[in-house]
Amino acid sequence: MNRWWKIRLTPRSPFLIAAKRITANDYETLDYIPARVLKAAVARAIIESYGGTPEDGTPPRYWVDPGLDPARCRPEWREWIKPFSEILFSDAMPYGAGRPPSTLLVCKVDPSHSPQDDLINRYALRKAVAAPGQLPPTVESGDAGEGRRCKECPQRLERWKSGWRLPSGGRQPGKVAHVQKRVFTRVELDVWRHTHRDEHLFSVAVGIPEALVGNTAEPLVFEGWIHAPEDVDLTLPPGFELRVGANLGTGLGRMEVEVFPEPPEDRKRWAEFGDWKKEVHDPSSVALVLVTDALYGVGGKRPVASLEENLAEYARWWQSRPSAIPAPSSLTVSYASIQYESRYPFVAGQPGIRTVDPLWYWLGGSLFVFSVTDPAEEEVLLQWATAVVKCGVRSDVSVQGAPAWSQDESPALSGSETTWTPVRAWSAGKL
Ligand SMILES: [Zn+2]
Repeated sequence: MNRWWKIRLTPRSPFLIAAKRITANDYETLDYIPARVLKAAVARAIIESYGGTPEDGTPPRYWVDPGLDPARCRPEWREWIKPFSEILFSDAMPYGAGRPPSTLLVCKVDPSHSPQDDLINRYALRKAVAAPGQLPPTVESGDAGEGRRCKECPQRLERWKSGWRLPSGGRQPGKVAHVQKRVFTRVELDVWRHTHRDEHLFSVAVGIPEALVGNTAEPLVFEGWIHAPEDVDLTLPPGFELRVGANLGTGLGRMEVEVFPEPPEDRKRWAEFGDWKKEVHDPSSVALVLVTDALYGVGGKRPVASLEENLAEYARWWQSRPSAIPAPSSLTVSYASIQYESRYPFVAGQPGIRTVDPLWYWLGGSLFVFSVTDPAEEEVLLQWATAVVKCGVRSDVSVQGAPAWSQDESPALSGSETTWTPVRAWSAGKL
């Protein structure tokens, strides 16, 4: 059995997280903490507390493995060491906000107006296209927001673009938060001429410990989830600090961290399938939303396939995830609204080694409607979907790594990458 914890990080200094390169000399922090960055920050803190240098005969350590002697670490980390590879992190988002479903539309003029979810519309359209004989009397255009208007003003709706929608159960539910950034320009001096070198001027947009929530500045907090074996106590002492992200040597990335058991009502709310039932009246289907990113696969460019082939491949992916309740054998994905991204991350525990092939991620907010073709499996579908919400979805892929500085593309070592992603039932624009 496993147990859910929440991790809350309160920045105490500006931060630079997995900086995005905007142009050759411009970097900008992300506005959330990817799971891999968070896990690396914890691993670094454990390794630093372990001590040991080549001089005293202990080999340098780069990653936490069960071979570390817990007695040599600071007491707060002792519980973490043995099960470290089984402790899975999610991304940590501002105020614990999940990514909004990719079908959520907002007012073009005033994003504080209540958003509308377009899923039911699109699902009806998709079904109509799949079965042209049953075309409903009016089918709206499939374009996002086309023909749909805000309920609070006459403006059009558009796709969700930026910012984080605060979850219910917290303060100010529904308000939109934007992480605040400041730009620093840095120069590199030419040691001979004592002037700055033209091509060595770069700017860095760091995050500051403050977010704009609605129109007011509030202290920024990141929240994510940790999935750990049942018998492990992850509690850290009060006031504990972790350093997260890049450029830590310059004082960036100090964050106060708390780890506490997840309040049970949070996940209960995620497992409510009532909205879908009410709108669709079809007991053979359910809709699920990824709260954070999930690793979909590894390899070159995704082959262009038909929509039907893609949906069949998604269904196979879901069927082959480990789950407390096995997926129904007649499971299909009857609609999906997905956003992808490919990345070349560092291989966990291998400093300076990047994956040779791109890893493909489904971004948080990606949405799936699952159906069963066998009516006898309707009950199993609901049980499986509930188990997915309870446990999240885990994805492991084998990767080949090569040194990041090397031009030679031949793999130097192999490893594996894992994501573990919280999942929730779709709700009609609610949180
Ligand atoms: Zn409006």
